[in-house]
Amino acid sequence: MPAYTKLTAEHVAQLAALLSPDRVSVKTADLDLHAHDQSFTEAYLPEAVIWPESTEEVSQVLRFANTNLIPVTPWGTGTSLEGNSLAVYGGIVMDLSRMDKIIKVHAEDFQVDVQPGVTRIELNKHLQRYGLFFTPEPGANASIGGMIGNNASGIKTIKYGATKDNVMRLEVVQANGEVIHVGTRARKDSSGYDLLHLYVGSEGTLGVVTEATLKLEPLPANFSAMLAAFEGIEPAIQTVVDIVGAGLEPSALEFVDVETIRALRADKGLDLVDAPTLIVEFNGSSDGEGLVAAREICEQNGAINVQAASGLEERNRLWEARHHTYESLLRQHPGKAQQIVDVAVPISRYPALVMYANDVLTEHTLLGYKFGHAGDGNLHINIIHDTDSQPDLERVKAAYALIVERAIDLEGTATGEHGVGIGKRKFIVRQHGKALNVMRQIKDVLDPNGILNPGKIFL
Ligand SMILES: Cc1cc2nc3c(=O)[nH]c(=O)nc-3n(C[C@H](O)[C@H](O)[C@H](O)COP(=O)(O)OP(=O)(O)OC[C@H]3O[C@@H](n4cnc5c(N)ncnc54)[C@H](O)[C@@H]3O)c2cc1C
Repeated sequence: MPAYTKLTAEHVAQLAALLSPDRVSVKTADLDLHAHDQSFTEAYLPEAVIWPESTEEVSQVLRFANTNLIPVTPWGTGTSLEGNSLAVYGGIVMDLSRMDKIIKVHAEDFQVDVQPGVTRIELNKHLQRYGLFFTPEPGANASIGGMIGNNASGIKTIKYGATKDNVMRLEVVQANGEVIHVGTRARKDSSGYDLLHLYVGSEGTLGVVTEATLKLEPLPANFSAMLAAFEGIEPAIQTVVDIVGAGLEPSALEFVDVETIRALRADKGLDLVDAPTLIVEFNGSSDGEGLVAAREICEQNGAINVQAASGLEERNRLWEARHHTYESLLRQHPGKAQQIVDVAVPISRYPALVMYANDVLTEHTLLGYKFGHAGDGNLHINIIHDTDSQPDLERVKAAYALIVERAIDLEGTATGEHGVGIGKRKFIVRQHGKALNVMRQIKDVLDPNGILNPGKIFL
């Protein structure tokens, strides 16, 4: 890492002149607020927090930081789970929450132009009047900039894809302050290198996104959801493979293990059967047929209980509870930490991964809640532990590494949706091999002084 410059009072005054004094802070409260994300990663205190309000301001700050060798870490809403938005080397945290305009809805093209600070819930509220929505749906109310940074996804990815599949065009400010536009509003594009997708998932290490054109979908008129409970994990997981293999196209296909079901029942009072469960949802015109076929597969695979989530209210409660699994587990285990595993594999390897993870947790006598966007081959395990207990930490570390490494060996990835951040850097060589050298070269070309979110992705 280069020898970064520590911020002086003069630098802070210069930043205040570039923005305005009330949008540059060195107050302890502001620094503290931006020293943690939602992971259990240690805190990293920035030296200043700034709130730009325009592309021009972002450009001026980056030019200034690049010249003075000051790190800049973009910040959306700080809901990352791998330390992605933490200022490991201090410097400036650039909080983009004030750049939150919905610039233009192109309803006829199913697109919207937004600034990065708008959150997905605010955006979707606004889009309701057009009968449209932006499909990627992480559990937290993340900003669009942060979702692009981490290539976030969620429950509906199986049908609509991840953030990368739903971004068409970006305005990006490069490390030297230059503003570029990548991608196009056309649905097809064969022109030149695919820079758009280079920036999506780059965790703010290659440039700062100041505007995005997003792809939208019509709000579905119908939903039909079903809960299928199984005697054991194996038939439940095999059913996921069979539903995907049958070519059915659910809009959600989630796996929830029995421990997580119990936690959700206790915390949210949901009417659930204590057993490994699949939540299957279809939307759109062929939803009824899809559900009937999925139900048949569940029954053939020995489901012990299949129930329809009747009514929109019940369905919404179910998804709301599933979205807030993390918080429910926090409430079930006060004072304990959660190490979150987020691995993904090809669907045919999903059973092998889940059964392996199960064995590893048992061998290490750990309590791990297993659930995930199973239809995408994405598995989450929230491993409960005591951060004050060294033996606990050692066992968690060992089990976590084994599961992540197995996912990579099964031709999958160390992170399906949360990004590399700080936590997954140690697996990057195993997953990418020599391709990592190309990533480093790209980073060196686009950010030669290494000022953009240093300490992430690469070890
Ligand atoms: C309860 C809970 C549930 C979650 N569920 C999911 C889930 O289902 N799926 C999922 O994918 N994630 C999930 N997450 C993780 C998190 O919400 C996502 O990673 C989200 O994309 C982070 O968005 P953010 O606005 O908080 O970004 P931040 O955490 O602030 O930043 C994320 C990354 O993007 C960079 N960045 C931010 N803004 C910009 C910008 N304008 N230009 C360039 N880089 C930028 C940051 O530097 C950082 O590297 C969950 C988190 C929580 C707490």
